[in-house]
Amino acid sequence: TQIMSRGLPKQKPIDGVKQVIVVASGKGGVGKSTTAVNLALALSANDSVSQIHTVLQSHKSPSKAVGLLDVDVYGPSIPKMMNLKGDPELSQSNLMRPLLNYGIACMSMGFLIEETAPIVWRGLMVMSAIEKLLRQVDWGQLDYLVVDMPPGTGDVQLSVSQNIPISGAVIISTPQDIALMDARKGAEMFRKVHVPVLGLVQNMSVFQCPKCKHKTHIFGADGARRLARTLDLDILGDIPLHLNIREASDTGQPIVFSQPESDEARAYLRIATEVV
Ligand code: ADP
Repeated sequence: TQIMSRGLPKQKPIDGVKQVIVVASGKGGVGKSTTAVNLALALSANDSVSQIHTVLQSHKSPSKAVGLLDVDVYGPSIPKMMNLKGDPELSQSNLMRPLLNYGIACMSMGFLIEETAPIVWRGLMVMSAIEKLLRQVDWGQLDYLVVDMPPGTGDVQLSVSQNIPISGAVIISTPQDIALMDARKGAEMFRKVHVPVLGLVQNMSVFQCPKCKHKTHIFGADGARRLARTLDLDILGDIPLHLNIREASDTGQPIVFSQPESDEARAYLRIATEVV
């Protein structure tokens, strides 16, 4: 479009935020939000597993100040995954204050609407919601803001990419062909709007039977690796398909916080070290 070919005239940093990392996927349900949450936690403890334990579980201030912004306006999952709900307070300058849990400052459309309300906004309504989430939040000082994008390559992704400077995009996919085809479109969109693609995360890469330890590649083996090679992208890491990850997310106790020493949490920690 015109805007793309003319560069990015509207980009303006978010006050107090040093680096923005967006987490995106071509399809829904591939583990984008789960990755965004665990990546934010991993970044806040400054990459080291031993620190994660002391920092996250002792309620000390995290080593890095990290925020999590949920712009998945049609299906916000951050409130549930971070065990947060309620109305954000307003600051003196009329900005919304993020809600805090596990040391992470969070803002989500889910805080601004009833949980059961159907999100039927279209067009301008969604865009004004995005504008609010991007510009009317008092983040204080953040080292990293992790942004949970909606799935796909629509107006929201484009608008976020054009409005704020983004350090890099992390793209989540399962190894399945259909997910990978859409992930490819995502990577191409970011490249068009000059957002560096940091790499691909291959989620649900392998399932290990907890009883017999046999490993099964439920969604195929190594598809994301093949795509990464074709697109000349880095693979940031693999996350196994594991019951603990699902249960931890669904109960609002993300695995990097609740079981930081587990192999599953370590997979996210490794990705955090690749990202920064
Ligand atoms: P998306 O944001 O892409 O729609 P979610 O992060 O909401 O996907 O994940 C969809 C579901 O899959 C959630 O119930 C989540 O707990 C689960 N899930 C995500 N990644 C894994 C994994 N590696 N192992 C097990 N369950 C996972």
